[in-house]
Amino acid sequence: MHEIAPPLTPPVRTLMGPGPSDIHPRVLQALALPTIGHLDPYYLETMDRLQGMLRQVFKTKNQMTMAISGTGSAGMEACVHNLIEPGEGFLACVNGVFGGRMAEEARRAGAEVATIECPWGQVFSVAEIEEALHKHKPKVVGIVMAETSTGARQPLQEIADVVHDAGALLLVDAVTALGGILVEVDQWGIDAIYSGTQKCLSCPPGLAPISLNERAMEKIHARTTPCRSWYLDVSLLSNYWGSDRTYHHTAPINMTFALYEALRLILEEGLEGCFSRHQRHHQALKAGLTALGLKYAAQENFQLPMLNAVLIPEGLDDATIRGGLLKDFGIEIGGGLGVFKGKAWRIGLMGYAARAENVLKFLAALEQLLLRNGHSCSPGCSIAAANEVYSGCGV
Ligand SMILES: *Cc1c(COP(=O)(O)O)cnc(C)c1O
Repeated sequence: MHEIAPPLTPPVRTLMGPGPSDIHPRVLQALALPTIGHLDPYYLETMDRLQGMLRQVFKTKNQMTMAISGTGSAGMEACVHNLIEPGEGFLACVNGVFGGRMAEEARRAGAEVATIECPWGQVFSVAEIEEALHKHKPKVVGIVMAETSTGARQPLQEIADVVHDAGALLLVDAVTALGGILVEVDQWGIDAIYSGTQKCLSCPPGLAPISLNERAMEKIHARTTPCRSWYLDVSLLSNYWGSDRTYHHTAPINMTFALYEALRLILEEGLEGCFSRHQRHHQALKAGLTALGLKYAAQENFQLPMLNAVLIPEGLDDATIRGGLLKDFGIEIGGGLGVFKGKAWRIGLMGYAARAENVLKFLAALEQLLLRNGHSCSPGCSIAAANEVYSGCGV
C-alpha cells in the first residue's frame, strides 16, 4: 500500500513576525522561472548582476560579496569559521539570542571566546567595547546590528574605529538590518558582514548574502589551517563566484532568481525610500501599540523599525493572543525568545510586510483580542493613533 500525501494548500498569512516576512508577488514569480544549469552562461551573468546589486545594498565595493547557500545562520557560520583559526581570540557582544549564537559558533570554530553582555533591549556603548578590547585582545569582534530577539538597534560607526585601533576585525550580523535600516559597509569600515534573505529582503529563507573586505580576505588567505567547513569555505566559494567559475556545489538557482528580483525591488524603490517606509510604518504601529498601553522592550532611541518587541501586559496570555491573531485573522507575529519567552511579542514590519494595510489590520485585530481578553483600552484608540501618524498630524 502506498499512500500519497495530500496536495499542498498552505494558508494565506500576513507575516508580521521576526521572519520569514511577506513576499512580494514578483519574487514568488521569479522562483517559478525555469531552472537552468549552475554553469549556464545566463546563470553566470545573473550571478554577476546579483553581486552588483548586493554591493549597492551593502554600500560596498568589496569584491568578495556573494550569497551563501543557506539561511542567515549559514552566513554567520561562513563568516565566523573563515575568519577564525583555532586558538584565536573572538569577542562576542551578547545582548540577545543572536549575539549568543555567534559566541557558540565561534566556540565551535575553536576560538577562545570572550563575551560581554548588556541587558536585553539595551545596546553596547563604545566605552564598553573599548574596555573589552583592552582586556581580551581578540582577533575578531562579533556584534549584532539589529537584535531580532529584543528589537534593539546597535550603532556601529564608532565601534568600528575602536575595533580597528585595537588591531581586530569587525564582524557584523545584519540579518534583520539589511534592507530595513542604513548599513554602510565601506564607510563604517565593517570588515565582514552577513545577512539573510527572509527578513527585510522579503525573499523566502534560503540564501545568506555576505561581504568581506580586503582586510578580512587577507586574514583568510593567511590561514595556516583550512577552514573547518568545506561547504562554507570562502576561498573555495570565491573560485565559483569569481572568474574561474570552478564547480564547488550546485547553486540554488531559483533562490538566486528570487533574491535577484527582491534586490531589484529594493533598488527600484531606492534605499532611502525603503528605509523611510520602514520608519513611517514603525511610527504608526508604535503609536497604535502605545495607545493600547503596550511598552517597547528596547531602550528609547534605539528601537528598530522592522522589529517591534513589546512587553506582554500583566494578565494577558501569550498563546491566547498570538493564537487568536493567527486563527481569526491569519496574522503571524513572534513570541519572545530566551529571557523574553512568554514575556514579549515581536511584531515584524519587514520588507514587503511594512505596509499601511498590515499595520492597520494588525492593530484592529490586536485591539479586538485585547478587549475580548479583559485588557482595558478605549475601543478604536489604536487605529486612531496610527492614522494620526499617517495623516501627518502626529509624531
Ligand atoms: C533570523 C536571524 C538570524 C538567523 O537567520 P536564519 O535565517 O534563521 O538562519 C541571525 N541573526 C539575526 C539577527 C536574525 O534575526
